[in-house]
Amino acid sequence: MPEPSEDPTSWSMDLRGTSAPALVEIRRWASRTLARVDDAHLGDVLLVATELVTNAYDHGNGPLGVRMRHTPSPCRVWIEVDDNCPDHPVLAPPSPERLGGRGMYIVDKLACAWGVLDHPGGSKTVWAEVSCDGVDAVPCAATLA
Ligand SMILES: [Zn+2]
Repeated sequence: MPEPSEDPTSWSMDLRGTSAPALVEIRRWASRTLARVDDAHLGDVLLVATELVTNAYDHGNGPLGVRMRHTPSPCRVWIEVDDNCPDHPVLAPPSPERLGGRGMYIVDKLACAWGVLDHPGGSKTVWAEVSCDGVDAVPCAATLA
């Protein structure tokens, strides 16, 4: 597994050729790079990142890479996952008749915004913005500054 870049405000991880077990590595990497984000906020970020990357493994021919960016004030984390499939993720409400397909529903509930960027050649980036404002009275990064 390649080491993430050392840029202090944004981090990226190359996921080409990986398989779903890399999710454990991705979660470890995200916890390390987001050291200033508290456990509650980090929990949401890890859930959203896991769903976006899982979607890329299941429907996007495997992820190409994942990037994260953190701004402390307002405290927000941007997660971006690239894959090689032009189809957009589908937002479907959970249903007892259907097992999968809940990924983007979880992303939609936890992220304050998300979207898809199409790239020439059929690849895309699915991004989500996860904030801790409104969850707690004090944003987590402010308590650590
Ligand atoms: Zn936060």
